[in-house]
Amino acid sequence: MNFELSDELKALQAKVRSFIRDEVMPLESDPRQTPHGPTEELRNELVALARKKGLLTLHASREMGGAELSHVAKAVIFEEAGYSPLGPTALNIHAPDEGNVHLMDVVASEAQKERWLRPLVEGKTRSCFAMTEPSPGAGSDPSMLSTTAVRDGDDYIINGKKWFITGAEGAAFAIIMARTDDGNATMFLTDTDRPGFIVDRMMDVMDSCFTGGHGVVRFENLRVPATDILGEIGKGFRYAQVRLAPARLTHCMRWLGAAQRAHDEACRYASTRESFGKRLGEHQGVGFMLADNEMDMLTTRLAIMHCAWVLDKGERGNTESSMAKVISSESIWRVIDRSVQVLGGQGVSGENVVEKIFKDARGFRIYDGPNEVHRMSLARKILARNTDKSKG
Ligand SMILES: Cc1cc2nc3c(=O)[nH]c(=O)nc-3n(C[C@H](O)[C@H](O)[C@H](O)COP(=O)(O)OP(=O)(O)OC[C@H]3O[C@@H](n4cnc5c(N)ncnc54)[C@H](O)[C@@H]3O)c2cc1C
Repeated sequence: MNFELSDELKALQAKVRSFIRDEVMPLESDPRQTPHGPTEELRNELVALARKKGLLTLHASREMGGAELSHVAKAVIFEEAGYSPLGPTALNIHAPDEGNVHLMDVVASEAQKERWLRPLVEGKTRSCFAMTEPSPGAGSDPSMLSTTAVRDGDDYIINGKKWFITGAEGAAFAIIMARTDDGNATMFLTDTDRPGFIVDRMMDVMDSCFTGGHGVVRFENLRVPATDILGEIGKGFRYAQVRLAPARLTHCMRWLGAAQRAHDEACRYASTRESFGKRLGEHQGVGFMLADNEMDMLTTRLAIMHCAWVLDKGERGNTESSMAKVISSESIWRVIDRSVQVLGGQGVSGENVVEKIFKDARGFRIYDGPNEVHRMSLARKILARNTDKSKG
């Protein structure tokens, strides 16, 4: 693969970089940030800034008003956005909207696109994706899905409970994964103001970077017309792969930007702060941490770029995105943790952005498939390959 970026992409990268530095980073201490993410007011303000600069929802299709970025282009732009905890919100490329935009661009009907996707791409609404359930429902193992959708005339009646649903509070619509009568999983689109769609409570989760936080959502005889099925009935798990493989890669991209920020903060401190007669970075113990950070980030960037290249060729990229997810979430975590260490007390205080990045990024080893589950599926493929070889 060719690592040279086109002039057009380099120009867009420079534009996003200066937007994040000049317009987004000054808002990082804005008091309109809560334990459940930036308030709607702050989000709308950030989105308006990006809209004015022509930087909103760039990954969406041109038909819907985006720039239809390739996966490689997303790798470059989303990393830039991730440099500030508020960047992905401003550019309207944060989870879960980013993945929902991608899925709906691929799967939704024209009528569904006009009704739900267009306002989402325009940054006028937010959405959520409801799959995970409390025990004994779906978690790491999606086949344990217990939410049901039962046919009633031209409608489906949905019952069940979901949790950890990012952005549920304040979302205009949801994509719900439910089990239909034939036992298969189906995705349903629904406005959240329909009777029977209930946000029970907000969960206290470690991160605070997603507007709408993470909610516990209950469906109590939620009536959804059959016309609001997303894609085809019974194809829910297949569509989950359409959504999840690229979506987990975009998490890698955004968190790499965050890791770069943490590292830059650590480098700045290590080159000015002194201890025991020299600058911190001149102590081998600190210098080696900075060197390890750069090697971890290079490995991550290469894994992301490789997977993006595979996806751009039109391949499913499931193996590559599993590998990239595990490599990235673990190396990014090491970079951020080392940066905290280099920053000393500041690294664990709200005085420095790295403390927030540390708390925001930890979940990434769990969501979009815990790393152990990705390792399990990689191991299965390796074994199957070698079993075939030994038979041959
Ligand atoms: C911040 C955050 C945001 C989220 N947002 C959403 C959202 O918007 N929508 C949504 O539907 N869900 C969301 N989730 C849920 C997330 O997808 C699940 O937490 C994840 O799939 C794991 O499911 P679980 O929590 O039920 O863990 P469990 O399934 O209970 O697993 C617990 C742990 O067991 C281990 N484990 C499980 N299976 C295996 C195995 N086969 N081998 C080895 N170890 C294993 C793993 O370490 C795993 O972390 C979010 C989660 C978080 C933390």
